[in-house]
Amino acid sequence: MIKIENLVKRYGGNYALDDISFTVNEGEIVGFLGPNGAGKSTTMNILTGFLSSTSGTVTINGIDILEEPKKAKELIGFLPEQPPLYLDMTVEEYLNFVYDLKGCKLNRYKHLREVCEVVKITDVYKRLIRNLSKGYRQRVGIAQALIGNPKIIIFDEPTVGLDPKQIIEIRNLIRTLGRDHTVILSTHILPEVQAVCDRIVVINNGKIIADEKTEDITRAVQNNRRFNVKICGPKKEVLAMLKAKTGIVYAEELAERDGDATTYMIESEPGVDIRKNLFYTLAEKGWPLIGLEGVGMNLEDIFISLIDNGGEDNRRKRSRQQKSRIQISEEGGDN
Ligand code: ADP
Repeated sequence: MIKIENLVKRYGGNYALDDISFTVNEGEIVGFLGPNGAGKSTTMNILTGFLSSTSGTVTINGIDILEEPKKAKELIGFLPEQPPLYLDMTVEEYLNFVYDLKGCKLNRYKHLREVCEVVKITDVYKRLIRNLSKGYRQRVGIAQALIGNPKIIIFDEPTVGLDPKQIIEIRNLIRTLGRDHTVILSTHILPEVQAVCDRIVVINNGKIIADEKTEDITRAVQNNRRFNVKICGPKKEVLAMLKAKTGIVYAEELAERDGDATTYMIESEPGVDIRKNLFYTLAEKGWPLIGLEGVGMNLEDIFISLIDNGGEDNRRKRSRQQKSRIQISEEGGDN
């Protein structure tokens, strides 16, 4: 359905995209994942005909986006990172405007009503966009993408700036749309693609570094062996116990404190689930365990674990993790 071949985009001497290729099949929901600055928006903008490439080709259903842009664009609905909304229009005025702009031939009243029902904005149809919440504005943005019934929908960072409830609603909506559309979801948030997508294409520094089924990447995340444990007890002795404990290959004290508790990062041996055993040891010692939390892997770690389970130096892994800017958990900002 979508074929990207050897795409290059250069700004001066800098390569925003350095020879990327991937395909998206009909009916798939594909996550396009990468840290900020990786080249996601550039790819989406080329894919949707907003930007030209330095070299390479993009075809939509066999139609070249540069050679027959109008025909190719008819197949695509696009929600850019900044939805193109006119705040002084009502939802009704805006959607009618988009309908005319796209030269839509479907029954105007029926089509707009259906689109509003799908994205659940019927109740704000007569309201000024300026007065809508960010969640509703995002829905209006999705509605404009759906006008004309395009087969493909492309979302660029659709949940940035939304509150947790709105995020869940928008993700559910994307999943619903994925039932009868081909979807590309571009984001820097790993749980977002895990929640919504069948396949994940990972981009970093303008290069594709992974193209995997979501379940394979999820498995790699679940095999995580690193935990932050919060323990009340004498710091030096606790740390010495953790370092000496069978099944733990690495332990260090973190700066975080919570009352009389200290947080330690531990890493267990491959294939060892250390949690219960650690609990019993701490109970025996009389050192209460008040927190235990898995530490996510960054995309690079996940990628490495997908292609190579070999023993890499843990310190290097951790230092890379601190540098990662892909969001690997729902809480907080970029890692
Ligand atoms: P992402 O969407 O993954 O955050 P972008 O596609 O926006 O990344 O950017 C990829 C790279 O291209 C970045 O290094 C960015 O600074 C650079 N870039 C994007 N647009 C321009 C531009 N108009 N001029 C120069 N550099 C640009």
